[in-house]
Amino acid sequence: MNGAAFFLGVNFVVALCFSAVFTVVARRSRSRRAALWLASGFGVASLSAICELLVAYAGMPKPFALGAFASVLAGMVLIWIGVGELYGHPPRRWIAIVYTVASVALSYAIYDLPRGTPLQAFCYQSPFAIVLLASAYSVLSSRGRKAIDHFLGLLLLLTGLHFFIKAGLAVYVGAGTTATDYIHTNYALISQSATAILIVAVGLTLLATLVLEIMADQRSESEKDILSALANRRGFERQVQSLLAHAPNGQHAVILCDLDHFKRINDTYGHHVGDLVIQGFGRLMNSSAPKSAALGRIGGEEFAIFLPDTDLRSAALLAHTLRGATMTLPGLPDNLNVTASFGVSSFTSLSQLPEAYRQADMALYTAKNAGRNQVKEAIGA
Ligand code: GH3
Ligand code: MG
Ligand code: MG
Repeated sequence: MNGAAFFLGVNFVVALCFSAVFTVVARRSRSRRAALWLASGFGVASLSAICELLVAYAGMPKPFALGAFASVLAGMVLIWIGVGELYGHPPRRWIAIVYTVASVALSYAIYDLPRGTPLQAFCYQSPFAIVLLASAYSVLSSRGRKAIDHFLGLLLLLTGLHFFIKAGLAVYVGAGTTATDYIHTNYALISQSATAILIVAVGLTLLATLVLEIMADQRSESEKDILSALANRRGFERQVQSLLAHAPNGQHAVILCDLDHFKRINDTYGHHVGDLVIQGFGRLMNSSAPKSAALGRIGGEEFAIFLPDTDLRSAALLAHTLRGATMTLPGLPDNLNVTASFGVSSFTSLSQLPEAYRQADMALYTAKNAGRNQVKEAIGA
């Protein structure tokens, strides 16, 4: 077995492994469809290695040469669809089908042209280049790209361009006078190894993108409170840290809130109604607080709001609005009157955050002691 045949074998195994791994990842990913398109793309592309070996050793090169071309191209088109699904720019199916059929027809039409001529080489490689450039476009034109997305886009761009370089190289170095000769040329060795490296890099980057997405989803799940649909304590604290990282100085405010006589609500109306109250209060906080705020359920019937760039007066105003609206939460038994108590404080730098929580907590305690269903501002805040 020569070097190029060895690389074909390696490409075959690598493509199959990617196909298997994308299938597994699809089960956990929110981008399930994208992952399955990618799995099928690598699976179909792996067939090309078998075709290439059959071209060299089966004695009937034309159908296998066309099969090799068609399987790589179809694999790349499927990957294009997968990448498009992942980045919200999937190509229309009929375009993908027409493109594949037209490219295979072109490959058939140029089959008998002398190999290594510029026309033959560019007509052969361009369909691969174009489909990868289209995939790169899907990534690079998407919104909200992160570093890994830029990297993937540039990698797809480079992989696309490398097919044009391969065409140039086929003309310059020579790709064998017949399809059967191809596998014994230096060109085949260079071509197969360069493509293998780039395809592995693309596969790994796509995999990393999907895995990072799964990790981000799991983190956000672990930071969410299902009942209130607000952040839990961990999520709330992380949101506050990230808001403060953007605006370490300036006046910020904290509201702590505790539902009144909640135990009594549970005891009188049942735990289920207690849960409905928590749900309703979470909805109320979500609809009343500004978008810039961090909202959390930090205990059983305790809630917190962090308001960046907000003074004590504005924060107290929001607390008063919430207090008033709590008494008319919808979807509860008619004779149930829910109230809540609020403590508000403000601060001007990150280091004062623990003190701000302590002051808001003291103000809340004062509100409870003063008869509940009230808002108290921290003294000296
Ligand atoms: P106060 O006005 O002084 O705050 O009195 P309270 O009854 O609200 O406070 P207490 O701390 O005595 O009771 C809180 C209750 O909240 C006790 C607990 O069973 C209930 N609770 C905590 N988490 C949940 C929950 O997820 N669902 C329901 N239904 N109840 C919960
Ligand atoms: Mg409490
Ligand atoms: Mg309470």
